[in-house]
Amino acid sequence: MSYFSPDYFTARSRWRSAASRLGCRLESQEIDAASPINAPLTIDIAILGNPLAHKAIVISSGLHGVEGLFGSAVQLALIETYLADNRLSSDLAVVMIHTLNPFGCAWYRRWNEDNIDLNRNFLVGDEVYQGCPPAYPQLDSFLNPQSPPSRLEPFLAKSLGLIGKYGMSTLKNTLPVGQYEFPQGLFFGGKARSQTQQILTAHLRRWLGLAQQVLHLDLHSGLGKWGNYQLFSNLTADSPRCQWLYQQFDREKILTLDSENSVYQPSGSLGNWCQNLFPDLTYDFLLAEFGTYSMLRVLKALRAENRAHWWGKPEDKSYQQAKQELLEVFVPQSQKWRGIVLQQGVDLCLSAIKLV
Ligand SMILES: [Zn+2]
Repeated sequence: MSYFSPDYFTARSRWRSAASRLGCRLESQEIDAASPINAPLTIDIAILGNPLAHKAIVISSGLHGVEGLFGSAVQLALIETYLADNRLSSDLAVVMIHTLNPFGCAWYRRWNEDNIDLNRNFLVGDEVYQGCPPAYPQLDSFLNPQSPPSRLEPFLAKSLGLIGKYGMSTLKNTLPVGQYEFPQGLFFGGKARSQTQQILTAHLRRWLGLAQQVLHLDLHSGLGKWGNYQLFSNLTADSPRCQWLYQQFDREKILTLDSENSVYQPSGSLGNWCQNLFPDLTYDFLLAEFGTYSMLRVLKALRAENRAHWWGKPEDKSYQQAKQELLEVFVPQSQKWRGIVLQQGVDLCLSAIKLV
């Protein structure tokens, strides 16, 4: 049986049924946004284990909408295999959060109901919802054309032209970093706190119960080598917390701030924000990224889907193709890919459970 579901509503219903059979405490938080069918869009929470436990694992999915169909499959497999057969330690609670961006998941988008890339929206301290990387305004017309997607357009030639003009490192540091000035553009971080952030602010502490120590695994797909994963951490390799993570997780897979191939550090990321929210807790955070296709193919798909969303019509063939390709680049149909990432994803969750 496949743990992967074709759409948000199927994924949500299967996940809730499985969590309920397991005896989880279930909760739904509705998002105020247009739904493609006559059913609400919700972030769902399932909590298993002792509510008085001092330790908690958080496993979240779907911060980037469509990627939730991957994360949901990992969570469902974890529930139906390991958690169904094993008792948790009495001092541990498992908090599973299903699709932090239900709008994006339901509409096959990476962005939320306000076109926000949620992993750029979680600003802390005196950070403000303003500004963008210096090269973004020049790239805007290429990234965000004001017309429906076209199959005839030479995307690759244009991209290579830009790489030649600006250099790959400028593009890598410009594109995914987050911008707060182009509300219809890619990687928009928002102009205010998203609904998802408000829900987490109001409820995350309660879901954690009395936990003093938390390990949070946030599941993503679409970056990295096909069928491989990496764990993004905001620690340095020599820090005691990182040394602790090395006890259960593959050292080679953890990208620390000082890693040689460390990538961009986006502002507004969920991990920093959670740690900032709970200075009284030991809160470790790993963003797990499972690779699919090349960065250019993923960027091309994001750009086409965003054009279709703003300028296309749902009945157009180009609109449907853009949605289909977006789903493929984040949750490939390949049975081989699905088998590999499911196993790796469940193993990561088990490593977290064993470590804490
Ligand atoms: Zn993601």
